[in-house]
Amino acid sequence: MPTSKRLRINGPRLQRNLEDLARFGAIAGGGVCRPAFGRADKEARDFLEDRMRALGLAIHIDSIGNLFGIRNGRESKPVVLCGSHADTVGTGGRFDGSVGVLGGLEVLETLNEAGVATRHPLGVVSFVNEEGARFTPDMMGSLVFRGDLSVEAARRMVGIDGTTVGGNIDENCYAGPSTPGELPVRCYVELHIEQGPVLERDNRTIGVVEGVQGIKWISFTLRGATAHAGAMPIHLRHDAAYVAGATIQYARQLSLQVDGQRATVGSLVLSPNLVNVVAEEARLTVDLRNADPGRLSAAEERLSLFVNDIAGTEGVRVEREVRVDVAPVMFDPSMVDAVENAAKTLGYSYMRMISGAGHDAQVMAGVCPAAMIFVPSRGGISHNVAEYSAPEHIEAGANVLLHTLLRFAD
Ligand SMILES: [Zn+2]
Repeated sequence: MPTSKRLRINGPRLQRNLEDLARFGAIAGGGVCRPAFGRADKEARDFLEDRMRALGLAIHIDSIGNLFGIRNGRESKPVVLCGSHADTVGTGGRFDGSVGVLGGLEVLETLNEAGVATRHPLGVVSFVNEEGARFTPDMMGSLVFRGDLSVEAARRMVGIDGTTVGGNIDENCYAGPSTPGELPVRCYVELHIEQGPVLERDNRTIGVVEGVQGIKWISFTLRGATAHAGAMPIHLRHDAAYVAGATIQYARQLSLQVDGQRATVGSLVLSPNLVNVVAEEARLTVDLRNADPGRLSAAEERLSLFVNDIAGTEGVRVEREVRVDVAPVMFDPSMVDAVENAAKTLGYSYMRMISGAGHDAQVMAGVCPAAMIFVPSRGGISHNVAEYSAPEHIEAGANVLLHTLLRFAD
């Protein structure tokens, strides 16, 4: 279809829509505060629904509040879907999530203008509560869509302000008549800002996302014995702080030794935490991430062996608890190839990469073949009012989205 090959989205129009959406929950510094299921979040969803109606899309809203706009195909077939989310963290920017939803609507508007008909229907979704900052779990809307979380269980969740998801859904009229997951989906593509510094540092326009890192959070409680810092000889100590410090060192070593590994000790509390007292107890967390499940498990095993070993030598007892265990997700290779081909054909610089953050696309990868397109984040800053992605990069990302979707819609 040679005419559709020459199609490009309207960058200035997409920027205007991003500005319009950023008015809902706008905060000082150009950021957005749109916590899930709140009033500003609902106003943003109403804005998106109006845009969908203006584009002639069929509206589906399910009982958890996910919003879908569907453009008919020539045949009644599963939907080729794209989208993201419209909720933000309390100190959010105007690009995280919004770029994927509005980028998708821009693609459909471009197809409408050019009079391009596709075999499969094309759709845009705005999933509820991707961030999870107000109500856990994050990626709630896509998890409910996938069937991993029931609407009833999601509604019972109590947020940081003591209110429930269900109470907010009812108060702000979120629920629609569709049953979550009933819409047949052929594949899902999510355009998103990178939220990290890699594309900018490598001076690339498009990130071809191959997968999302798995995460393990392990908390260690180390119990030794308190003692006087002057009177107790070193070789007689059971120093919990010493074992904690060695663990921090080892986490860095693991990151350097295991391919694709990140290991972070972000929290450490010593007790009694006094200048001249050997610590009796240390509580620390290790955040382990890797896109390879085998390497992630091996890193966890090596870390635990190390901690047990050094604690044993020091005479410190170890309690270990895995608090988060999210498996890595690798996207469908043919979808990833399609994103890469679109970037290449359009003449954009690109690189293959792994997402460091979680996204609805990793949940949707359990429903249908899925993929993601990243565009650069200035300074790698996100979840912050200073979050910024350049208009030409967002335009490029939406063009890659357009041609990836066309590839699967025919
Ligand atoms: Zn996001």
